[in-house]
Amino acid sequence: MVESLQGSQVTFGWIARSSETARSLFLSVLTLTTLSLPAQALQVQVRPDRPQLGDTISVSIQVNNPTQEAPQVVMGEKTYPTFPIGQNRYRAFIPSSPLDRSGRWEFQVQGDGQVRNLALWMGDRSFRTQSIWLPPSSAGLSGTDHEFDRVDAFKALVTPEKFWSGPFLRPNSGPITTEFGVRRYYNGEFARDYYHRGVDYAGPYGSPVVAPAAGRVALVGREADGFQIHGNTVGVDHGQGVTSIFLHLSQIRVREGDFVQAGQVIGTVGSTGASTGPHLHWGLYVHGVSVDPVPWRYDGLQ
Ligand SMILES: [Zn+2]
Repeated sequence: MVESLQGSQVTFGWIARSSETARSLFLSVLTLTTLSLPAQALQVQVRPDRPQLGDTISVSIQVNNPTQEAPQVVMGEKTYPTFPIGQNRYRAFIPSSPLDRSGRWEFQVQGDGQVRNLALWMGDRSFRTQSIWLPPSSAGLSGTDHEFDRVDAFKALVTPEKFWSGPFLRPNSGPITTEFGVRRYYNGEFARDYYHRGVDYAGPYGSPVVAPAAGRVALVGREADGFQIHGNTVGVDHGQGVTSIFLHLSQIRVREGDFVQAGQVIGTVGSTGASTGPHLHWGLYVHGVSVDPVPWRYDGLQ
């Protein structure tokens, strides 16, 4: 059985909203639905109400039996961990990207010794495209195993602690030149696996790059040590599978293991690695998938 969570039509469960009106409305819904559900049902809420490709889906779960293990969210072949967010409450993040399919997304919530089959509606979204024309012989830089191995290991981090709180800050004051998700045509051919995995800020050379949220510096890579494509790189682990990577820096102002606060300078804008001019590339990853930072910047995710 699959229960639809499409739109805001939550037909069961629990919700937390700041508006008292919403709360009292919901309580009456809860009272009604409680009658038709087993007493021990897991209560699940999905946000945002109308997700679109690139969004980070937040799945909140209320369990009745706090002595059980933390619940899990399973989608396809992926299992997403949950982390405590309050009494008997847990939250998982499901990343989405421009490479995913829109439409019905089915998932399972497992916890309290129960399994609930649920579904959400993933909205389609069109991303801007760029056409790039390369001369036939241009091989370009291919990058080193060292940099890709280190970056892959960094993006796979799932640290149990949550270091961020509230909306993320803008990491550089320069104007945005390339937003998240831009797709490309190379020599007229659509690049199926490519999307711009981050946001570019055209801050001037040497301008400060700040941590958008607190976290631990878990990656420092230098062009001189084989970071051919990424250039001078800092990776900040915000915890619970959320990571930020900053590329093409001129200077690096932190060391691996440092704890940084939101707004703390971690480096300066440069053009190291595969870069045609000074800019900051900020990539925000959730469980290894590059997601749109916009909801994190403006609304924030709990
Ligand atoms: Zn970029």
